[in-house]
Amino acid sequence: MKIAVIGGGASGLVAAIVAARNGAQVSIYEKLNRVGKKILATGNGRCNFTNMNLCLDCYHGNIKKAQSVMEFFDLYKTLEFFEDLGIHPYIDEKGKVYPNSLQASSILDVLRYELKRLNVEEKTDFNVRELRKSKDKFSIIGTDTVTADRIILATGGKASPQLGSDGKGYELAKSFGHSILEPFPALVQLKLEGKYFKRMAGIKFDGLVKGYSGDKLIREEEGEILFTDYGISGPPVLQISRRVIEELYKGREPYIVVDMFPQYTKIALYDILQDRFRRVGYKTLEEGLIGFINKKLIPVILYEAGFDNLDKLCGKLNKKEIYRIINILKEWKFPVTGHNSWQQAQSTAGGVNLNEVNPQTLESQKVKGLYFAGEILDVDGDCGGFNLQWAWSSGYTAGYYSSIDGRII
Ligand SMILES: Cc1cc2nc3c(=O)[nH]c(=O)nc-3n(C[C@H](O)[C@H](O)[C@H](O)COP(=O)(O)OP(=O)(O)OC[C@H]3O[C@@H](n4cnc5c(N)ncnc54)[C@H](O)[C@@H]3O)c2cc1C
Repeated sequence: MKIAVIGGGASGLVAAIVAARNGAQVSIYEKLNRVGKKILATGNGRCNFTNMNLCLDCYHGNIKKAQSVMEFFDLYKTLEFFEDLGIHPYIDEKGKVYPNSLQASSILDVLRYELKRLNVEEKTDFNVRELRKSKDKFSIIGTDTVTADRIILATGGKASPQLGSDGKGYELAKSFGHSILEPFPALVQLKLEGKYFKRMAGIKFDGLVKGYSGDKLIREEEGEILFTDYGISGPPVLQISRRVIEELYKGREPYIVVDMFPQYTKIALYDILQDRFRRVGYKTLEEGLIGFINKKLIPVILYEAGFDNLDKLCGKLNKKEIYRIINILKEWKFPVTGHNSWQQAQSTAGGVNLNEVNPQTLESQKVKGLYFAGEILDVDGDCGGFNLQWAWSSGYTAGYYSSIDGRII
C-alpha cells in the first residue's frame, strides 16, 4: 500500500514511521527544503516533547472527541517510542520532558534516522497545491503529480507560517468537503490598552496574570511576566492567551489583571509599605519605592494610582493613599485589544472539525482513505509539551490505522 504523508512536521514524521513499520510504502511530501523545521524551534531549541502531567484538561478544542487518540499513544508509549529511538528523557521540576541532550535537533535526528532505516521517501520542496481522489487512488498535485492509496494530511495549522504551516492544509481538507472551525492563534503575546507600554517595555517580574471576560475569571497563571511596547508577554501570558483570544473572537471584551505580588495579601503588602514609608519617610514618593519595584515602573505605578505629584514625601501618605498604590500592584487591569500575529503564535486553536473524522482512527468520514494528524485538527494544548504530544499521538494513530486500512483493533 502506498501512503502519502502531506507535511513533514512532528505528526507527519511519526505517522510515516508507524505506517512504514506496518509495511506500507511511505512518502513524505514537504514544501520546505527540509522536514521538521518547526521541531528545531520548539522549547527554545531544546524541544519540550511531552509532559509527565499529561491530562485532557491541558487540551482545548474538541479533545473530548479525540480522547481515544491520547489513550492509544499515551505518555508512556511516547516515552518508550523515543527511548527506543535513542532519546533519553530529561524531566524538569515542572514535569516538562526534553531530550537529555537538551537539543531539539536530537529529536529530529532520531526520527530521520528511523525514516531512513525504513526506506521512507522524503520529497522536500514539494508544495502540495491540490489533492484529488478518483476511484481508489489519490492524486497529489504539487511540483509533480504523484499518486497514493492513502493520504495523511499533516500540514499543521497556521501558527508560525515561516516554518511552513500557512493554513494551506485547511483548503486541502475543504476540497474534500470538510468543514473548518475558524482558526485563531493560541499561545501568543497579548496587545493591551494602556498609556505607558513604551516606557515599561523590557521590565520582567514574577507575578500572576488573570484573564477575565466580564466578571468571570477565565484563566490565571503564575510565572515570569514581561511588559513589551505593545502589551504583555511571558510564559503565563502565552498560557492564558488561548482563552482570552477566544473571548475576543466571540466579540466580548476580555481584560487581564496583573498581580505583581501574588506572594502577599493586600494586608501584608500594606504592612510592608507602611513600614517602608515610615523608615524612609523623608524621601519623595518616587524615591521611596526604589529597591522595592523596578525603577522604570515607579512613576507609571504612581500615575496609575492617581498621584500627580511624585515629589510628595512618602512619610506623609495616609492609609487610603497607600492602598491606592497597593491596588495597582495587586490588581492592575488592562483591556485586551488584540494579539500578536500568526508569525509569533506557537499553536493554532480551531481547525478540521473532528465531528467529521472517525475519532478512533482519524480517518475522514467524508473520504475513505484520507487521514488527518496534528495541529490541522481542532485540538490544541497548553504550553509545556502538550502540543507535540498531540502531534505524536495523532500522528501515531493516523499512521497506524491508515496502514491497516482503518480496521479498528
Ligand atoms: C516557536 C515554537 C515553539 C514551540 N515549542 C513547543 C514545545 O516546546 N513543546 C510543544 O509541545 N509544542 C511546541 N510548539 C508547538 C508544536 O511545535 C506544534 O504544535 C507541532 O509542531 C505541530 O505539529 P504538526 O505536525 O501538526 O505541524 P507542523 O510541525 O507545523 O508541520 C507541518 C508541516 O507541513 C508542511 N506543509 C504545510 N503545508 C504544506 C503543503 N501544502 N505541502 C507540503 N507540505 C506542507 C510544513 O512545511 C510543515 O513542515 C512550538 C511551536 C513553535 C512555533
